Amino acid sequence: MFIDSHAHLDYPDFENTRDEVIAKALRAGVKKIISVGTTIDSSKKAVRLAERFKGIVFATAGLHPHDIDETMGFERQLEEIKKIITTEKIVAVGECGIDYSSTHEDDGSTDPYEIKKQRDSFTRQLDLAKEKELPLIVHSRAAEEDTFEILSQEKYKNLCGVVHCHTGSMDIAKKVLDLGFYIGFTGIITFPSAAELSEVIAEVPLDRILIETDAPFLAPVPYRGQRNEPAYVVEVAKKIAEIKNVTLEEVANATVKNAEDLFGI
Ligand SMILES: [Zn+2]
Ligand SMILES: [Zn+2]
Repeated sequence: MFIDSHAHLDYPDFENTRDEVIAKALRAGVKKIISVGTTIDSSKKAVRLAERFKGIVFATAGLHPHDIDETMGFERQLEEIKKIITTEKIVAVGECGIDYSSTHEDDGSTDPYEIKKQRDSFTRQLDLAKEKELPLIVHSRAAEEDTFEILSQEKYKNLCGVVHCHTGSMDIAKKVLDLGFYIGFTGIITFPSAAELSEVIAEVPLDRILIETDAPFLAPVPYRGQRNEPAYVVEVAKKIAEIKNVTLEEVANATVKNAEDLFGI
């Protein structure tokens, strides 16, 4: 059995095929899927899916760093996210975090306004997680310094969560582990270009690893280039088993336990 700890089942890519996608996941042994919210609308849709597929789909609510709506204003957006977290069954806050990958100016720097906006949004969602005693799903890209500076603050020391889609070095992985967070690996680890990532996976203990698809994105080999779906999380588990030279069952058992412990599912 497996758990896909990070998928976006609400995305339009799954329109009209959700039932089949979930049935296929169950046939592949993927018994639980965390459907991760990225906007108000996406978080609400994740909640509806969790209600419809009880015990199989679990919802999170959060504001992705690239989905901070300028017209609505992030204060109002965060109020809405807070409302969802307060009134609905939510297993984590997120995905939230910092992502400067597509916000670089021509000289490689990031606009100070953008930095402030993303840092504020992230901090406010950490406050929410703290207040509601929920775990976090953290997205960090091209922003490790800021992400860890915030996560390491004294007031957040009791927070737990996962830094999802890890593609960084062992130094960054160590920072995640030092915080007591889990590390999420996607299908990227099956790409031939990810040789360096194998060394990180070899070193990260199995009891700190979550497996995820980030579907509909990042389909693993041999489905690369296609729409990703939760059933394919098995390929991520297979790759980890191969790298760590353990059985697929060991990876499955450990990652199921980790996800169940973290999300309380
Ligand atoms: Zn993400
Ligand atoms: Zn995601």
